[in-house]
Amino acid sequence: MFGTMRDELRTQLDELRRDGLYKEERILASPQDATIQVRTRDGGTAEVVNFCANNYLGLANHPALQEAAARAVSEWGNGFASVRFICGTSDLHRTLERRVSEFLGTEDTILFAAAFDANGGVFEPLLGEEDAIVSDALNHASIIDGVRLCKAARYRYAHADIDDLRVQLRAARDAGARRILIATDGVFSMDGDIAPLPGIVAAAEEFEALVMVDDCHATGYLGATGRGTMEHFGLEGRIDIVTTTFGKALGGASGGCVSGRAEIVELLRQRSRPYLFSNTLAPAIAGATIRALDLVEEEPERLRRPVAHAATFSSRLREVGFDVLPTETAIVPVMIYDEPKALALADRLLERGIYVIGFAYPVVPRGRARIRVQMSAAHSSDQVHAAAEAFIAEGRAMGIIPEAE
Ligand SMILES: *Cc1c(COP(=O)(O)O)cnc(C)c1O
Repeated sequence: MFGTMRDELRTQLDELRRDGLYKEERILASPQDATIQVRTRDGGTAEVVNFCANNYLGLANHPALQEAAARAVSEWGNGFASVRFICGTSDLHRTLERRVSEFLGTEDTILFAAAFDANGGVFEPLLGEEDAIVSDALNHASIIDGVRLCKAARYRYAHADIDDLRVQLRAARDAGARRILIATDGVFSMDGDIAPLPGIVAAAEEFEALVMVDDCHATGYLGATGRGTMEHFGLEGRIDIVTTTFGKALGGASGGCVSGRAEIVELLRQRSRPYLFSNTLAPAIAGATIRALDLVEEEPERLRRPVAHAATFSSRLREVGFDVLPTETAIVPVMIYDEPKALALADRLLERGIYVIGFAYPVVPRGRARIRVQMSAAHSSDQVHAAAEAFIAEGRAMGIIPEAE
């Protein structure tokens, strides 16, 4: 039976290669950190400075987290071999949920195996066909999938456009929606920009809508104490639902959660399918995530570093003629526009020991190719400076920026 399908799949895979859409996975030969070893084609390794991980706080390979994970394993074992509601809830899980709520200033928190699952399971229990979801056009794939799993009417507003958001809210109200939920990423990973939450919250109040923010790229480092985009804007307590991940700033392992109004979280425990039908979070991850949250509070200087690095790097690149999107986050999009050029520049930087990724269509719009540079608290100022100088040297060699005077 597989015979003809094998041929079809091979054709499809060849098409992906031909169109430049085939993703080759680079093999790391070391833990995730500021500097990593990558496998080379000849089977050896090369050391590069890593600017493409979501390791914003540099905790992915931090000794304190390794230790907390090991302690959790020796105390709680490898796993619970159960979903939460049968026999998969331990003190450790309750502690992490309480700790996240305390950190985010929310009423309650529910853990998921991943933020992808949190977004997949948050909408369907809360909204039915008499309701509406109004979603930013550039929201993460997991929000899009979560919305698809739910029967609510769907409205989409132009990215970060409050006027269009209001048009869509008006349309949802005019259509007689019972509940309306606005869903947005807190930080958009391709442009590194922050959702305009003050305008979103104001519109939500005017149209009596709820607000859901996916803060995966913000939790742990954005805002004065790392509480994310709501703290950045001073909107603590005004966001009804926050979803976030433990796989980025907070230790880089995996796991995620929905945090927010108590009754919302309580209903999700009863009804959210990825929570009910998937195994409880591994003790190692729960233990390490609790320690990560402690570190954010104990070492406030750590969370200022990624944004400070991004600011230094952006201003140096702009000074010599690079087009860098404005950023207040750890993400610096260096616009190259031309697709092959962006990919070639990333290759040349890797040769110089700077690991960055070029993003081209269809990940970003056609003609908007870029290199995304992600800063980490683990980077030293020297590494950030060296990366900027490497961009400048290659940018000049490739004619992307003018020669030095
Ligand atoms: C990374 C990310 C996710 C998925 O998080 P996981 O915990 O890795 O599943 C969801 N939403 C956004 C905005 C993300 O950036």
